[in-house]
Amino acid sequence: MTILVPFEYFNERMSDKPYTVYMVNEDNPNKSGYIQGYWECTHCGEGTQFRFFDDSRFPYYQAKCPKCRKDFLAKDDTDWED
Ligand SMILES: [Zn+2]
Repeated sequence: MTILVPFEYFNERMSDKPYTVYMVNEDNPNKSGYIQGYWECTHCGEGTQFRFFDDSRFPYYQAKCPKCRKDFLAKDDTDWED
């Protein structure tokens, strides 16, 4: 089961307004060791900001679309060479 916990995120380098980030299976935004980014649902295409704490399936993260409520896998394709 995948649980989404939304919170208001503010990063002045990314946006001039707070926006909603969905934490996956975690309700503490102060917990360290996360990856955060933007992924699109593989079912309906809805784009969502996620914060993942469980990297046991790296580079895949268990996600859930807040729009269609279906689970999908988000792939971390960050280019670490940069
Ligand atoms: Zn969806």
